[in-house]
Amino acid sequence: MRSVTAALLLGIVAPVPAVAGCLVAIDIGHTRTQPGATSARGAAEWGFNAALAQRVQAALQATGVAQVVINGAGDPIGLKDRPAAAERGGASLLVSLHHDSAQPQYLTPWTWEGKPRLFSERFSGFGLFVSGKNAEPEESTRVAIAVGDKLLAEGLRPSLHHAELIPGEGRPVLDAERGIYQYDDLVVLKYASMPAVLVEAGVIINRQDETVIATDAYRDRIAHAIAAAAAEHCRRVEMGLSIR
Ligand SMILES: [Zn+2]
Repeated sequence: MRSVTAALLLGIVAPVPAVAGCLVAIDIGHTRTQPGATSARGAAEWGFNAALAQRVQAALQATGVAQVVINGAGDPIGLKDRPAAAERGGASLLVSLHHDSAQPQYLTPWTWEGKPRLFSERFSGFGLFVSGKNAEPEESTRVAIAVGDKLLAEGLRPSLHHAELIPGEGRPVLDAERGIYQYDDLVVLKYASMPAVLVEAGVIINRQDETVIATDAYRDRIAHAIAAAAAEHCRRVEMGLSIR
């Protein structure tokens, strides 16, 4: 067993005990075989989501927030099975991790490493989604507000391109400053029996942004924001405040 002194010398900070009843389910968006969006350089969104999930898990651990990863292997899974898995795992909060693209009319062909690819430099930034049909819409929104505040404090900025009144978009904006959209029928949020937020961590169809988004430094900024917001959620759970 490592002594306290040795632990201090090694720079190990004792974790804060997990709050009873507070557990964050980290949902890795999409699967290996249906991997979501494609980046400007041809990389699949699932890989970005999975890499971010690792950093979010580490940040939650460092913050003393218990967590569980949904479908870490990226196996085929139904959309409703994701919130169901969160419920089975006893989650008090579901955070679904994604990376963003843009509508086809905004994409421009280019060549990367000899292969034809598509990009758009038109949009940049994060987006947060909540569902009004979720079982806990108020706490979902509180968490989204906290994530947005912390992402802004990390120096990041939201993209509001999902609000544009064109086919495939037109999402109502709940909070423009923090990049929070309302998307009532987003399945992973709608069918969650606990508060739930979907995070679009960045726009990977943007060539410049993609190279930044693919770094651990960027992932940690997102992860720290989620962990700090989750810790506040845990405090509300701990205080026994109604989260409905
Ligand atoms: Zn996605």
